[in-house]
Amino acid sequence: LSSRLDRAVKNIKGEGRISEVNVAATIKEIRRALLDADVNFKIAKEVTNEIKEEALGQNVLTAVSPGQMFTKIVSDKLTELMGGEMVPFSPKGSPAVVLIAGLQGSGKTTFTGKLGLRLKKQGQQVLFVACDVYRPAAIDQLETLGEQTGIEVYTERENKNPVEIAQNGIKHAKANGKSIVVVDTAGRLAVDEQMMNEITEIKETIAPSETLFVVDSMTGQDAVNTAKTFNDRLNFDGVVLTKLDGDTRGGAALSIRRVVEKPIKFISTGEKLDNTLDEFFPERMSQRILGMGDVVSLVERAQQAFDEEEAARLNKKLRKNQLDFNDLLSQIQSIKKMGDIKDLMGMIPGMGKALKDQEIDEDAFKPVEAIIYSMTPKERANPDLIDNSRKKRLAAGSGTSIQQVNNLLKQFNEMRKAMKKINRMTGGNAPGAGGG
Ligand code: GDP
Ligand code: MG
Repeated sequence: LSSRLDRAVKNIKGEGRISEVNVAATIKEIRRALLDADVNFKIAKEVTNEIKEEALGQNVLTAVSPGQMFTKIVSDKLTELMGGEMVPFSPKGSPAVVLIAGLQGSGKTTFTGKLGLRLKKQGQQVLFVACDVYRPAAIDQLETLGEQTGIEVYTERENKNPVEIAQNGIKHAKANGKSIVVVDTAGRLAVDEQMMNEITEIKETIAPSETLFVVDSMTGQDAVNTAKTFNDRLNFDGVVLTKLDGDTRGGAALSIRRVVEKPIKFISTGEKLDNTLDEFFPERMSQRILGMGDVVSLVERAQQAFDEEEAARLNKKLRKNQLDFNDLLSQIQSIKKMGDIKDLMGMIPGMGKALKDQEIDEDAFKPVEAIIYSMTPKERANPDLIDNSRKKRLAAGSGTSIQQVNNLLKQFNEMRKAMKKINRMTGGNAPGAGGG
């Protein structure tokens, strides 16, 4: 997708001003790119029209090409459309009460577990309350998550009144010194009146500090409609996008944000509990929609999963664009330790596209690792050294083909190119990457 944008943007290179003629083809490509990323058709059209208006007639600064400037306008526009700034999740009260709402299967219970773990790591005393009274299995599921995270779960298996259970749960939390209560609720397969009444009544009775609407980002257009219906009735405070596992699908974030005008607070990927929940940064999502890969998130997750020092070193190299095969190797090794592999691969620029729609398992790394192990330390540190005769040696040494070696080098170079682009756009100061 980013190469398509690059190509489109080339159309307007060389001109000193962005004009109607040179912008038309580019706008069409951008619209297609947005549709590919699952942005709703009507919204993609509106957005591209707005971009066109903003871009037209802008004088291009001499330091950048019109193409670069256009890319910046698009990226800024998407960021703005997704809320601009990150809106932190900061529930108040003692205990703070968080209500989780959404359709069945959207990922509410899973998210409850992930959020609980995150809060617990921050030092909170968490209580889960199981209000899905229709499916005993749902209570079991939350109890399992409670065991895995070491978080207490409040249940009343005989009681079929979720409003009462929620109230009793909060009482229990108060009596037991809990600082935050997460109330998991039931959902239906489709929006219905009874469910809406029930969740509205729970909300009115327990007056949560935050009501989060959980939505499956893979449901595309339905996700937007469901979000609208829930917001009309429930007036929720924030959105949680789940199942954002691939390297596309970011479009749901844009559509939902635009339709309900509520901040997206978390994005969830994968079924594992740890390292699969991220706060939502509009700028990163904008880059992700534009296909640059979420390098910043990758670095952050790396920080969580392995040695901070290593992350800081990597961070610095990313900014200076000095990535080499030693880094790739250590990345692969830490990726293996981290959350959902496919998902993480999607975040590496150039890799996501190459591996899209392919089943990824740990074996996929084996040839790559074998090739890197066959390199001399010099080659690992200076990827540009690798010429044809070295390629032959590497293929023979690693039991792979020249083509596999070529592929690896190509992907590696694409990755470096993408990093360069991000560094340029962020002035070498990738947002949020400074903590390392
Ligand atoms: P609920 O009915 O809203 O409580 O949904 P659940 O939490 O039970 O999730 C429904 C299914 O989606 C389960 O199989 C989860 O493992 C899966 N799931 C939830 N969140 C994610 C996610 O972010 N990524 C993936 N891949 N699966 C998820
Ligand atoms: Mg559930």
